[in-house]
Amino acid sequence: MRRIPTKRKAAIIGGSLGGLFAANLLLRNGWEVDIFERVPEELAGRGAGIVTHPELFYVLQEAGVRVDKTIGVKVESRITLAQDGSVVSERPLPQILTAWSKMYHVLRSALPTQNYHSGTAVTDVIDGPDFAIVTMPDGSTQKFDMVVAADGFRSSIRKKILPEVQLQYAGYVAWRGLVDEMRLSAKTREALFEKFAFCLPPTEQIIGYPVAGLGNSTKAGERRYNFVWYRATSEDLDLPKLLTDATGKHWVSGIPPTLIRREVLDAMEVAAHALLAPQFAEVVTHASQPLFQPIFDLEVPKMAFGRIALLGDAAFVARPHSGMGVTKAAGDAMSLVTELSNQADTIAALSRYSESRTQFGVAIVQHARHLGAYMQAQFKNKTEREMAERYRTPEAVMRETAVPAQF
Ligand SMILES: Cc1cc2nc3c(=O)[nH]c(=O)nc-3n(C[C@H](O)[C@H](O)[C@H](O)COP(=O)(O)OP(=O)(O)OC[C@H]3O[C@@H](n4cnc5c(N)ncnc54)[C@H](O)[C@@H]3O)c2cc1C
Repeated sequence: MRRIPTKRKAAIIGGSLGGLFAANLLLRNGWEVDIFERVPEELAGRGAGIVTHPELFYVLQEAGVRVDKTIGVKVESRITLAQDGSVVSERPLPQILTAWSKMYHVLRSALPTQNYHSGTAVTDVIDGPDFAIVTMPDGSTQKFDMVVAADGFRSSIRKKILPEVQLQYAGYVAWRGLVDEMRLSAKTREALFEKFAFCLPPTEQIIGYPVAGLGNSTKAGERRYNFVWYRATSEDLDLPKLLTDATGKHWVSGIPPTLIRREVLDAMEVAAHALLAPQFAEVVTHASQPLFQPIFDLEVPKMAFGRIALLGDAAFVARPHSGMGVTKAAGDAMSLVTELSNQADTIAALSRYSESRTQFGVAIVQHARHLGAYMQAQFKNKTEREMAERYRTPEAVMRETAVPAQF
């Protein structure tokens, strides 16, 4: 990559994975970087499993992270389990699965602490011809050559620039959770560990794979099994019930896992035993802190506005079936830095970044929508459900889920 000799200054809003990729890459390409994260504490995974793709490892290395065997847990194949627990289909597909906390840890460690400002919720960003102005929580302002909005799927910066862009609820939620390897029976451990597993009972879909355990250990016996269970959930009736805590408070933007009502968890456990292969039922009912995430689609028409760039989930949210959230954020950061290194004019570089990554974002959201069409069809009529069902053979689901998409 060609370097332009400069000390341009970047503000990055959001200190999660997207922001950390951008900060590490910019810093290593001659920029001064300040990353502002509103949460005062270290961030912690919520759900934890992350599927990796070769591009992710490439960007991690460019960002200053040493990628070795401890980066994740390797599986060799995928299996689909029937409701009775027997294997109905298997295909070889080596893949490395990692955990959100591992990604956060390696990226955070690669960044000097003085560049990361925790507990700093940026309140406004204004674009200008010579610099962008960032307003801090105390009302003071700072000037930067560029602002990267890596502030997630509810990005306030995107809402200000593109108020017409809305999250679209897909009609289902993903229950997620983790269970320590040694909490599972020997039979279930033998069936599931070393595998990326699926179970597709009528109207449901669950996947699972091993990830690092506590302290990011990838040693056998110390790992955890991660599940993602998609469940049709109506927007008007069921979703509001799930989002209401025991005091009656309705958490529109997402309920903290510890506040999910006991009866909601009990109903989920009963459904697990009734609907899922016994191995998956055991994983779900032994998970330490299950949580759910409503599934949304999000697309923006462009990703750069003068000196402000949107990055990661602030711009595009693809359903988790594609397993691309973190790799997409990494790819955005890589593209941004490449364009800035090739071009002294920051605004022109951001415009080129926007062109290439908007195209990619649109394609990945569409691909993930296709993968999730079956779940979305659950509230449609019988014919539409049967149409969606036709593409939902175990072979098709195992072939297409969480693999690098070719566009
Ligand atoms: C704490 C956390 C845990 C996660 N755990 C998982 C997981 O286990 N599995 C998984 O698949 N995905 C997980 N994700 C999502 C995953 O990280 C993203 O899909 C992907 O990495 C791209 O994210 P992002 O960095 O673009 O946005 P996000 O990861 O959503 O991060 C946005 C960040 O911006 C910060 N922020 C928002 N507004 C402001 C503001 N005004 N000022 C300063 N900071 C602001 C937020 O606090 C947040 O840290 C998690 C995200 C977070 C924040």
